[in-house]
Amino acid sequence: MREDKQLPDSHGYFEEFGGKFVPETLMPALGELETAYEEAKRDPSFWAEFDSLSRDYSGRPTPLYFAERLTKHCGGAQIFLKREDLLHTGAHKINNALGQGLLARRMKKRRIIAETGAGQHGVAAATICAKLGLDCIVYMGEEDVQRQALNVFRMKLLGAELRPVSSGTRTLKDAINEAIRDWVTNVRNTYYLLGSAVGPHPYPVMVRDFQSIIGKEAREQILAKCNRLPDYIIACVGGGSNAIGIFHPFVNDKNVKFIGVEAAGRGIKTGRHAASLVAGTVGVLHGTKSYVLQDDAGQILGTQSISAGLDYPGVGPEHSYYKSIGRATYVAVDDKEALKAFQLLCQTEGIVPALEPAHAISYASKMAGSLNKEQIIVVNLSGHGDKDMDIVVKALGVKL
Ligand SMILES: *Cc1c(COP(=O)(O)O)cnc(C)c1O
Repeated sequence: MREDKQLPDSHGYFEEFGGKFVPETLMPALGELETAYEEAKRDPSFWAEFDSLSRDYSGRPTPLYFAERLTKHCGGAQIFLKREDLLHTGAHKINNALGQGLLARRMKKRRIIAETGAGQHGVAAATICAKLGLDCIVYMGEEDVQRQALNVFRMKLLGAELRPVSSGTRTLKDAINEAIRDWVTNVRNTYYLLGSAVGPHPYPVMVRDFQSIIGKEAREQILAKCNRLPDYIIACVGGGSNAIGIFHPFVNDKNVKFIGVEAAGRGIKTGRHAASLVAGTVGVLHGTKSYVLQDDAGQILGTQSISAGLDYPGVGPEHSYYKSIGRATYVAVDDKEALKAFQLLCQTEGIVPALEPAHAISYASKMAGSLNKEQIIVVNLSGHGDKDMDIVVKALGVKL
């Protein structure tokens, strides 16, 4: 990576990736958002409130925990876990929802719209809207509404209005399309609170900046504990927000290697997976140019993963850039391996991970065995597994 260059450029490009592929009617709204964010970014009082609520409301800083028994079990490198699972609402998503919620309030937009797949971002957005006294409308595919009844109830309890989406495959990508449509129509009073480091500029940068608190803390914590930086940082990649959040503060530390772990679902060869960087091609989805799962005609393909949070056919443009320059390596772990790692972490550490970071745990634990005991791996434990109990019960064939 060349350090003389500030990326993304003023049009939101990381070399060939990123940009703003949106209807003409949204360009002014993106411009307004960019200006507001640039101003907020330079305003110490904005960050003071972000830090204060991150601490007192979300529960930061999260610990960096040495997983001693997991390390012993793997028999090699030392494995540390960044405990985002301990945050309010159980995952890293609250970092982004808080940052954007504060920005929306600053822009005097009191009507917040959000999209959600499994409901995790919907819950985080509804939570922050309740906290800040903002109206919240969440778009969710009808298929997901049925599969995630409990999260639907949670969002309603938190005061959000739920709008089921019946177009397309009736899942996350259709919910995003519908949210964009709403934004086009109601752009004057509406803030679109996007849930990952995807979408048109400035979302990928903004979400990265809010999630970078993970990597900033991890950097200080590993230096305090080990007096040196880690050899590897490993994180799961759906849209890519938890991964870019822990990677980015280490980007100029050339000896720290980044590994992003995507969902191989039933197996890359079956075509039933969600591994955009590993198995996709360059295209445009939801306003940004990046790696996408698409057919030869550019139609977006269906995805599959045991973890709803990784089940997305695109990925943030900064990851595509890191892939293209070799700054990060992207791999994929399938449903079965993730499920095994899920159980391994339960039994060795007494920590129930979400199925998304179980993919990262799987890759880390296999890799650790091939490294020596002096080496250090930091895994971003992006969320807690309570939300996944039903899925795990079914996947293991257990009768309750
Ligand atoms: C949503 C989610 C993810 C995937 O989203 P990213 O933007 O890739 O981080 C990962 N882990 C958990 C726990 C999630 O809820």
